[in-house]
Amino acid sequence: MTKAETNFLVKLRSSGLRPTKQRIKICEVLFNRDKTFHFSINDLTNIIQNQHNEKISLATVYNTVHAFKKKGYLKEINIGNDMSYFDTNTTSHHHFYDEQTKELIDINSQEVEIKKTPTPPNGKKIEGVEVTFKISKKSSL
Ligand SMILES: [Zn+2]
Repeated sequence: MTKAETNFLVKLRSSGLRPTKQRIKICEVLFNRDKTFHFSINDLTNIIQNQHNEKISLATVYNTVHAFKKKGYLKEINIGNDMSYFDTNTTSHHHFYDEQTKELIDINSQEVEIKKTPTPPNGKKIEGVEVTFKISKKSSL
């Protein structure tokens, strides 16, 4: 077993998941890469079915992704209009969201400066600020 595979088993077990062939495939797609990966449950299911020729149900992908999120291996990003994306970069950072290509792009946290923050409701504190900049293609004049 390779070091990566051992790592996948650790991730699955610590998330309370039985390491099935399908779930190990999910780990390969998510964690065997050096760049940040943004995806929806549907994207990930399609990638595994079409690019890896592995039969997998939406429910398995859903359960696994949510278990990883709960454990802190993935982060959920809400774009609004019910679109939910997941991110393999779990640090605090900002995004561009391209509404035409439905693509998320990371922005380094140092590139965004928040000048004014609202006072949180009584008994609450601000945990973090994550901003999504919606982008679209410039219209040519
Ligand atoms: Zn990101």
